[in-house]
Parts: sequence; C-alpha cells; structure tokens
Amino acid sequence: MMIIMKPNATPQQVDHVIEHIKAAGLAVHLSQGVEATIIGAIGETHNVPAELFETLDGVDEVQRITKPYKLASRQFHPENSVFPLDGFTVGGEEIAVIAGPCSVESRSQITETAHAVKEAGAAALRGGVFKPRTSPYAFQGLGEEGLEYLAEARAQTGLPIVVEIMSQVQLDLMVKYVDVLQVGARNMQNFNLLRAIGETRTSVLIKRGLSATIEELLMSAEYILSGGNKQVMLCERGIRTFETSTRNTTDINAIPVLKNLTHLPVILDPSHATGHSDFVAAIARAGIAAGADGLIVEVHPDPAHAASDGKQSLKPEAFAKMVKQVGQIAQIMDRRLASVRLPVKQ
Ligand code: PEP
Ligand code: MN
Repeated sequence: MMIIMKPNATPQQVDHVIEHIKAAGLAVHLSQGVEATIIGAIGETHNVPAELFETLDGVDEVQRITKPYKLASRQFHPENSVFPLDGFTVGGEEIAVIAGPCSVESRSQITETAHAVKEAGAAALRGGVFKPRTSPYAFQGLGEEGLEYLAEARAQTGLPIVVEIMSQVQLDLMVKYVDVLQVGARNMQNFNLLRAIGETRTSVLIKRGLSATIEELLMSAEYILSGGNKQVMLCERGIRTFETSTRNTTDINAIPVLKNLTHLPVILDPSHATGHSDFVAAIARAGIAAGADGLIVEVHPDPAHAASDGKQSLKPEAFAKMVKQVGQIAQIMDRRLASVRLPVKQ
C-alpha cells in the first residue's frame, strides 16, 4: 500500500503516518521523491483498510500496489533509482561499463586487465573469485587471495570492484572487499542469500536466472530491497531457449520491459548472453540502444588460456572498440559513459 503525502505535508505529519503503519503491523519504506513523499506500508495489507490512513493529516491519497513486487515497482517509485557507485552514478544519465575477466587468475592477470579496461573507458572492474562451475573439477576461483588482488587493482586504477557471492558464509569476507556484490544466475532464487544481502548496505547486481521470468527476477530483487538495501541493479544475461547456436538467448525485450515495470537500473551482460566473443559487441550495442543503464563484459588479456569463459571473453583491443561504439550509441540516447573520478592511490 502506498500513502502519498500532500506536497506541503510536514515532517510531523509524515511521522504520524509512520506510527500508524507500524501499529498496523506493517513495515515502513519511505521514498522522498522530487514530486512527493510516498510512504510504503508493506506486508499483509489485504486486511488493512485504506481509510485507516486516508483520514490522517497531510495524506493526499492511498493506493494499493497491484504488482506482487512492491518496493521494486515503478508504481511505488515512479522516478528512476539513481545511486552513487564510487565516483559515478548508476541508473541516471551515465552508462556504467563494468569489465574484467570471468575469474581472477593471478595478480598480474587482474592488474593488467584492470589497467587495460580502464584505459578503454570502463567504469568498474569485474572478476570472480568464487566460481559457480557446472563441473566440480573445473577451476573454482582463488577465494580470498583473489579478493586481495582485486583490491590491489582497485587501488591502482580507482575502479570499483564487482564480485560474485555464492553463499551466505562468504558475506562477511565479501563486504570487507567489494563495492558491488554480484548474485549470479544460479543463485537468483537463493532466498537466504538474498535476505542476508538485504541486511547489508553494499550495492548489488542481481542476474536473471537461466530460466527465470522477469517477474521472478523482480521478486528476487524485492527480497533484497525489503531488507532496506536499496542499491540494487538488475542484470539480463540471456536465458535458455531451444536455440543452440549461442550459449544463451539475449532477451533484449527484457530491457524495455524491466524499465517499464521497475525503477531499478538495468544492466546487460552480452558475454554470457551470447557465449561467443564474435557476438558480444553487437549485443552490447543493441542493449544500450534498447535502454540499458550499463553493461558487464568479460575481458581477458589472453582468452585462449583463460581459466573460465575464454570463448566469450574480449581481448582488450576488441573491448576498446566496443566501448567507442557503445559511447556513440549512448550519445544518441542522450546519455554518456560513466568514468571513475576517484583519486588513485599509488
Ligand atoms: C559470471 O558473471 O561469470 C557468471 C557466472 O555469470 P552468470 O551467473 O550470469 O552465469
Ligand atoms: Mn563468466
């Protein structure tokens, strides 16, 4: 339920409404937009009559949120969510290009890649240290050692780091190091993990599950938002279809559909969506043209010898070319590429 306050409502009137929401056993989520203050009363609202709030001073209107996801819905938060990420913003005019290897393999591999992607125009560095591999015998990631290398790469380049978390037991370690917690496709519905991440205030990039619907992705984001963590980005990374010529099928529709349904930033991963470096740039361009707020792209200095996902990884030169093209499309969309403005530690 949304309680929309009158434009001139006083802070005392807002507090008074909040007291009533709590007394009704509901959770309070305050959204202070430019146009109006909207107070979300979230929980089992079907038995709570709207009149309970309609009659309170300062209240303009009470509306029920019709979608099963509440805090993620555009109805609750009509303006785009724009939040800062270490020197730039996500969800607004700036387009964030996140790039780096699938897995962190060594100190030199991640530092070399970090410098190369920064030079090419990336705004953030990716790199997995806990890898969700189909085979238990495949490279599983460097763990904390990998986080140390990523932290060094960040110190040298100023690029914030985006790293996948696979389990709640990794949470304390991860929040010490990372700027963005990536929730992978396979963990999109790991509800215990989502709840635990919701309790943190670390930004999140949550990827769509291999065969998850758009609504299921939004319900997963809702788990995180309901814990009070509002810095959530959604990521389309391709879905399983009957088509076998690419690793996955990019659901390009998902970009405008999500932008319509939610205020959260939408990022496209053209690497996992196609599974082949030959197609990554084309789909990256399509994603920005379709309205994505950013890209997450796999880049490796030596894809042929990558420990994971080499086939879909771009060499730094190909990545640089892609960023140029994407930057031009961004301009047509009245947007521009984000870049880090942080002082770099030597
Ligand atoms: C990854 O980003 O390397 C990854 C494992 O992605 P996904 O969860 O989309 O498969
Ligand atoms: Mn990968």
